[in-house]
Amino acid sequence: MPRTAVVIGASMAGMLAAAALARSTDEVDEVIVLERDELPGEPGPRKGLPQGRHAHILLPSGRAAIEELVPGSGVRKRLLAAGARERGLTSGLVTLGPQGWYRRSRHHDTHPLLIASRDLVDWAVRDAVLVGTPRVEIRHASALGLLGTADRVTGVRVTEKEHGSGADAGTGAGADLRADLVVDATGRGTRVEHWLADLGITGIRKDVVDAGVVYATRVYRTPEGAEDFPPAHVTADPAGGRPGRAGLVLPIEGGRWLVSLSGTRGGEPTAAPDDFVPFARGLRHPLVGRLIAGAEPLTDVLLSRSTRNERRYFEKSARWPEGLVVLGDAVATYNPVYGQGMSVAALGARELGRELERTGLGAPGLARRAQRAAAKVANAAWTMSVGQDQWFPGVRGRSPTLADRLLSAYIGRMSRVATGSYRVSAAMCEVTTLQTDALRLLHPTLLLRTALGPVLPPLSGPPLTPRERTILRDLGNSAPR
Ligand SMILES: Cc1cc2nc3c(=O)[nH]c(=O)nc-3n(C[C@H](O)[C@H](O)[C@H](O)COP(=O)(O)OP(=O)(O)OC[C@H]3O[C@@H](n4cnc5c(N)ncnc54)[C@H](O)[C@@H]3O)c2cc1C
Repeated sequence: MPRTAVVIGASMAGMLAAAALARSTDEVDEVIVLERDELPGEPGPRKGLPQGRHAHILLPSGRAAIEELVPGSGVRKRLLAAGARERGLTSGLVTLGPQGWYRRSRHHDTHPLLIASRDLVDWAVRDAVLVGTPRVEIRHASALGLLGTADRVTGVRVTEKEHGSGADAGTGAGADLRADLVVDATGRGTRVEHWLADLGITGIRKDVVDAGVVYATRVYRTPEGAEDFPPAHVTADPAGGRPGRAGLVLPIEGGRWLVSLSGTRGGEPTAAPDDFVPFARGLRHPLVGRLIAGAEPLTDVLLSRSTRNERRYFEKSARWPEGLVVLGDAVATYNPVYGQGMSVAALGARELGRELERTGLGAPGLARRAQRAAAKVANAAWTMSVGQDQWFPGVRGRSPTLADRLLSAYIGRMSRVATGSYRVSAAMCEVTTLQTDALRLLHPTLLLRTALGPVLPPLSGPPLTPRERTILRDLGNSAPR
């Protein structure tokens, strides 16, 4: 009998898990990916990816994991050819951090971020996996539950979809799909806890830390002459004692600027088009508002409230069946302003692949070990996101401890030093892009540099070249549309 793996969900976690499984030819003969959306053949929106309308950045850690899982697939090349941008975090962005403007290094262009619409990233990853790994097949079907027992998952109950029938319509025909391994990659709306309960596994621990963040996004035509203006980011200040408001302008494919504004509880943006630019101008610095003041909007303002930090501790469950692994947003979601979800999904899939290679599909405890490895990856992003969000007024689910206060005071000082020290800023980037463990921030050299203070004085405004300054001045003075 062929050894079959079934992956539920064909987004970032699902397609990369499929790639990880298909690579181990000795272990898995076929990989079936179940997806309830009818998937577009080219970049485009789909119902199962509502967050795709908002700003998405792919961190270098996520990109490296993708490259390892789909070697030679050219995901990056595909993205760049379709108009994505690549910008080094230490030189290519204009960022107002909580403690001031970060300098743009003229000498070090490190920590490259990939910037494109989420729809383009979704398509590029899916296409690369399908082209690069022929043993992966996508089926238009919705998973309804798991087959098996609390000791072993043996497959998935599915409803096949009819082509053109829309995301929610099934043929009504339920079918059982046998599998040696099942991966749940159904995102933040996962039903896996209910499916596990049907098998007799209950009591999965869950944590929610909710700063009440609302995202408001609008797409603009890139103003003429501003095509090379760097991505601009005005962040929120968690220690400011006020609701955190932020704004981000990302150049995406198709000569467009994708502009996402966000606010924590009490400081939320609205969907009213007339509020958009004033909200952006009212951030800690008016940079974002000035850039878009006269730009031509191409869409309405779209809101997202799917922003809370939510974590399911599957790895801590007293019982865990063989044959089931949960990855991506189905394990944990984070406040999206930190830009981590896609990368954690990719890193989790990479861990599954490594575990499979190490011990083999039939090895007892494979699922448990892969689940623990995925949890470890989620841990870094979770700690960072919750560590910031817990300070915003009205946050639900957590209040800071004494240890949190001490750590926050240290990180606050380090952030200030980072505005005037390339080395400290690079070390922080290493952690925030999930390339190294957060413990790096406690390295003695960094402790010393933080204690000594910034090498350079704080900047009084955004670090722009003379040409960029002229562009900003002209855009800021243009008539509103
Ligand atoms: C506003 C916002 C902005 C964000 N910005 C960033 C960012 O800048 N950088 C970043 O890295 N991340 C960002 N994220 C997070 C990112 O979108 C997610 O982390 C990422 O998409 C998770 O991938 P996933 O595969 O786990 O889940 P998803 O992308 O949610 O995919 C789940 C898939 O499963 C399918 N599915 C669901 N149920 C079933 C079923 N029963 N049967 C079959 N198929 C099913 C769905 O149709 C979908 O295709 C942002 C999120 C939000 C909300």
